[in-house]
Amino acid sequence: MSVLITNIGELVTNRPGDQAGAAAFAAVAGAALVIDDGLVAWTGPASRAPAADQVVDAGGRAVLPGFVDSHAHLVFAGERSAEFAARMAGLPYQAGGIRSTVAATRQASDDQLRANLRKLAAEMLAQGITTFECKSGYGLTVPDEARSVALAAEATPEVTYLGAHVVPPEFAADRAGYVDLVCGAMLEACAPHAKWVDVFCERGAFDRDEAAAVLAAGQAAGLQPRVHANQLAEGPGVQLAVQAGAASADHCTHLDGADVDALASSDTVATLLPGVEFSTRQPYPDARRLLDAGATVALATDCNPGSCFSSSMALCIALAVREMHMTTQEAVWAATAGGARALRRTDVGHLGVGARADLVMLEAPSHSYLAYRPGVPLVAGFWLGGRGVVGGQQVVGGQQTVEGVRSGG
Ligand SMILES: [Zn+2]
Repeated sequence: MSVLITNIGELVTNRPGDQAGAAAFAAVAGAALVIDDGLVAWTGPASRAPAADQVVDAGGRAVLPGFVDSHAHLVFAGERSAEFAARMAGLPYQAGGIRSTVAATRQASDDQLRANLRKLAAEMLAQGITTFECKSGYGLTVPDEARSVALAAEATPEVTYLGAHVVPPEFAADRAGYVDLVCGAMLEACAPHAKWVDVFCERGAFDRDEAAAVLAAGQAAGLQPRVHANQLAEGPGVQLAVQAGAASADHCTHLDGADVDALASSDTVATLLPGVEFSTRQPYPDARRLLDAGATVALATDCNPGSCFSSSMALCIALAVREMHMTTQEAVWAATAGGARALRRTDVGHLGVGARADLVMLEAPSHSYLAYRPGVPLVAGFWLGGRGVVGGQQVVGGQQTVEGVRSGG
């Protein structure tokens, strides 16, 4: 069945960027979009829209590609609100806080972890995130990491093996032994469920040589690399990511000139996670420097119970615009097409013909409202693989308005 969404105030289509053309924000005013068989079949001026089996009148609202969250940690148990409150009262963030979530996660049942993951994935979708990446990294034993990636794979194809999140307490005196485990039996148990291998390359976590070993072992097992890099201080993470051909170097909060140059002259996306700086009260990454140098920038939530327990891409966009001097167009591109690039996906993050019909409709006439009205829930509805939900109601046949769908009419 085909669906025509018409009377769209602003349709953000994006150009994802490839050999055919430069990546850029792109939008059409007074637009329409046709979905057929779960894919975008047509976009253009509403006055020229073709007929379809079902018509939804957007009432002048903006429609965007669904947000692509390329960095999230959703397989965990417990919460760390007391740590957050203490941090806001003056204690610094340290990588070791992860260990308290590790303890809770190991004690949780599969069903508890699954229920928490599903709740967070639903929370993301209701806020317009239609694709998300999900990491392991709170198990840190062979069985706990294996079940973490298996649970993540139930929820998303973008599963990342992050056995190298921190060294667990039982290996405190044997770091090399833990790296061997991450590169050996743990990897073997996790690789069948994962697409990506990641490592937290940071003081207090894994150094350059340890991180390089983890990425090389993961790549040998068929996984593609991504790196937690340069979050807390300058360090080797970004250079390592670029040298390994990583899809993404994530955080990029503390970069030197060589790091910026390396990102700008590579396919490695600089994924910025401003919710973390917000939640840890740290300086934001220098997005302008990266963009002006020509690096590809993505925005992601880093939703996790420690350093940023937010699943709001709208918050990331607002912070990127207000605090990091990205334009509203750059921020929205980074949260959609940029995230797709960071996951090496060409089927999401834009609304070109043939893209997955993953879209978000705003209770607003333009994308800029995501930063202009911070903290306000602006998602009027979403389509996921062509299936529409507006105001919590499934969009079903015939002629509909957004108000009509909402009222079940
Ligand atoms: Zn992370």
